[in-house]
Amino acid sequence: MFIFKRVHHVRQWIDHQREKGLIIGFVPTMGALHQGHLSLVTESRASSDLTVVSIFVNPRQFNDSEDLRQYPKPIESDLRLLYESGIDMVFLPDVDDIYPPGDIHRIAFDPGPSALIMEGHFRPGHFEGMAEVVHRLLDIITPDQLFMGQKDFQQFAIIRKLIRDLHLPVRLIMCPTIREENGLAMSSRNARLSPEARREAGRIYTTLRESLEAMVQGMDIRQVRETAMEALRQGYFDPDYVEIVDGQSLEPLLHIDQAEEIIVCCAVKIEGVRLIDNMILSKANDSNV
Ligand code: AMP
Repeated sequence: MFIFKRVHHVRQWIDHQREKGLIIGFVPTMGALHQGHLSLVTESRASSDLTVVSIFVNPRQFNDSEDLRQYPKPIESDLRLLYESGIDMVFLPDVDDIYPPGDIHRIAFDPGPSALIMEGHFRPGHFEGMAEVVHRLLDIITPDQLFMGQKDFQQFAIIRKLIRDLHLPVRLIMCPTIREENGLAMSSRNARLSPEARREAGRIYTTLRESLEAMVQGMDIRQVRETAMEALRQGYFDPDYVEIVDGQSLEPLLHIDQAEEIIVCCAVKIEGVRLIDNMILSKANDSNV
């Protein structure tokens, strides 16, 4: 497994692989790796000749400096996990490698209204920073395939728009959310929860499932949202939002018939840790209830 910090070393290596005509899969991460990240690696390895993983905690997508400061950076165990997973190269840049000092260039991409609701509303500027770094990473790695998790559905939808709008030559693949035994979506942030809160947080998953079931049974969308908010308000849970949106446009829905793919998304603060999750109701393949 190669480990590169500098962009020109990455480019040399990539050029060399390209000469051999190999298909490159790419998994961008912020480190503190868990089974969710490793499932993306497994999917990439299954359909690519080479897999590249980046670990970069992107300061531009954090609007809360305390959240950035507290973001875990267990680099040695991350590298061990990646080595054991059989990937080919890790890109481990410093901030200056991604954003050279004095470089004021910004991508010409407007994520539009989909970046202003849900996470975009509670974390202003988050998606602009996220799209900027993913664009820079794609420019450096030039992968054929990009693997991202359903866990961050809004992020996935905005990168899908970035790729379409800028005609980027990469295939985007969404990988399913990997969960703990009680249904809690795996996240680097889960480690900051007390054992009790971590157990209790399984309620996010049950609430999402119940919301999907209620929609299938014909409950009014507004009522589904309110019921879910109420369920997530119990105890010391503090929900930021529950939204039911169109999977393509991310526009909030008033009626289940308005979209082919419906996503129930939520964000909840527990012990000061902000957790997000979502579930998809796809009419094409029935539901995943
Ligand atoms: P992050 O390190 O949080 O930026 O996540 C890197 C990638 O891993 C993103 O595409 C996430 O959507 C994905 N990811 C994070 N958690 C999970 C999970 N529990 N299941 C599947 N993918 C995940």
